[in-house]
Amino acid sequence: MVNKKPTSHCHSEPPEAAQTLLALMHAQGEVARLSEREQLFSSLLDSVNAVLWAFDWESRQVLYVSPAYERIFGRPAGLLLADYNQWRDSIYPDDLEYAERSLAEVLVKGAVEDREYRIIDANGKVRWLSDKCFINQQTDNSHRVIVVGMAEDITEKKLLEGELQRLATTDVLTQSSNRWHFFDSAEQAFESARRDQTPLAFLLLDIDDFKQINDTYGHQMGDSVLQRIADTGKAVLRRGDLFGRIGGEEFAAVFPGCTPQIAQQIAERLQREIQRLSFSHEQQTFGVSVSQGLTGMTDDDKTLDSLFARADAAMYQAKRQGKNQIVIG
Ligand code: GH3
Ligand code: MG
Ligand code: MG
Repeated sequence: MVNKKPTSHCHSEPPEAAQTLLALMHAQGEVARLSEREQLFSSLLDSVNAVLWAFDWESRQVLYVSPAYERIFGRPAGLLLADYNQWRDSIYPDDLEYAERSLAEVLVKGAVEDREYRIIDANGKVRWLSDKCFINQQTDNSHRVIVVGMAEDITEKKLLEGELQRLATTDVLTQSSNRWHFFDSAEQAFESARRDQTPLAFLLLDIDDFKQINDTYGHQMGDSVLQRIADTGKAVLRRGDLFGRIGGEEFAAVFPGCTPQIAQQIAERLQREIQRLSFSHEQQTFGVSVSQGLTGMTDDDKTLDSLFARADAAMYQAKRQGKNQIVIG
């Protein structure tokens, strides 16, 4: 048997020139695909309303910043790439320390996703940013620490949150604290007064014969009486005092750090100022009065409720005794 040598002419190598040409075509295809990808990425980055960035920790150099930087910060990206201080200079001064501290935390934690701080853009407008950052694992063993991040403009969201917070805590008619918010803050004031052994006074105020005001002058007039009384309350109280509308024509106040004697002076002033209010309705002029119940915190008060109950009883006693007066309970 004769072993046949395999013939190779049908698999012969292409000539060298053809090989080069094939390699070139392959490379061109690769380049075309890469540039397609690059175009895709840059158009994606352009449309995202967040600044993507990369930062070399040691050299404090910004390595990359996406196009949204110029839109949000209003500064040229080239300047930032040349000098990281461009970013620091944009930060709202009160937030600079926090922004730097929370950035440094990424070295320990690997990721910081709850950073929020303010910047001042080129037009002087304050904007809120959510600026998440992460350590980028280097695959080249270079031990360079690269931090990457995504800064999103959350100004609208913050404004909305503030507005929601205001709506949730404010009485629409009088723009004072609503019942829920008043008692929430009052509980906190009560707890810290007990903890710190400092005085605290609680006041309840109810408009006298308010139903009659509504019946005689109309509901709208009743509403403006409520507004004027709330304004008087806010004007007479001191900074740090709490004031709220806790019912239809009922208001309450808490005076932290206040002995019953001082609180009584404030209540008397409130009584006088309310008596001085004058309302007119179709050539008729009328005034209003209020009954108040006031009490000071004692060692026996374990909850705010017991103070509230005493002030309430005092207020009803003021009503029974002929209204337009303050009773200390
Ligand atoms: P007293 O001197 O004993 O406190 O009598 P009063 O008439 O003030 O008290 P009463 O509880 O009988 O009536 C309170 C009235 O307050 C009844 C209610 O229609 C009215 N009221 C409650 N909320 C509002 C409001 O938002 N606007 C107006 N205009 N009236 C309100
Ligand atoms: Mg009432
Ligand atoms: Mg009343």
